[in-house]
Amino acid sequence: MKILVPVKRVLDYAIKARAKADGSGADLAGLKMSLNPFDEIALEAALRLKEAGQAHEIITVSCGEAAVQDGLRTTLALGADRAIWVSTPENLQPLAVAKLLREVVLRESADLVLCGKQAIDDDANQTGQMLAALLDWCQATQAADIRHDAGSLDVVRETDQGTETLRLTLPAVITADLRLNEPRYATLPNIMKARKKPIEELSAETLAVDIAPRLTTLHVAEPPSRPAGIRVKSVEALLNGLAQTIGGKSQ
Ligand code: AMP
Repeated sequence: MKILVPVKRVLDYAIKARAKADGSGADLAGLKMSLNPFDEIALEAALRLKEAGQAHEIITVSCGEAAVQDGLRTTLALGADRAIWVSTPENLQPLAVAKLLREVVLRESADLVLCGKQAIDDDANQTGQMLAALLDWCQATQAADIRHDAGSLDVVRETDQGTETLRLTLPAVITADLRLNEPRYATLPNIMKARKKPIEELSAETLAVDIAPRLTTLHVAEPPSRPAGIRVKSVEALLNGLAQTIGGKSQ
């Protein structure tokens, strides 16, 4: 089985996002960028499938400007066999990413795409689903566990009603949820080795994909700051205050 793992470079999860003064987008200048955490989980799942003898090759792919190659180097240090950079001039919307990934999947004859359930910058939660639709492949989203047995893949999904287990027929797309695994760290020797590994370069033009945005961002704003708390003298005063607040809201 050949696994393709799409990875996105996003603002590090520990950094607070700021909106640009003109409201046209997020201001990322000088801020730390990292691999999307759900994509690290997806890669870890792919590595475990390979270690269990279920996969023979893991290819990571990232679409975007030159800087996304940093994330690809990290994936090589973590154990990916190859990395592909699809160079694009601008920030991409999920449909454009899905169309680019479709072409890479077909070129590589991949059997399984393991991607994150969502990118923590746009919180779109769309790319995996759109990719499965464009490929006409089956999909299991928000995987909390992946079990392999005699050539089949069972995916456990957490739902509001409990868990749902799906048996997938390959080829398929799986999107990774938080509880799927705990990703490993790259070792220093592997980070050094990854620096020398080649990254294949493709572009939206070579893949003949129209990446024109379909949506226009009208305004980006930071959440309103929370009002300061107050200190109360007793538990009784706290309960009275809460009762008044709840009473006020329900009227
Ligand atoms: P989204 O639909 O934007 O929330 O992203 C869902 C998943 O699609 C991410 O976790 C990645 O696995 C993949 N993805 C999104 N954007 C990119 C990108 N520019 N390059 C590669 N993979 C991406």
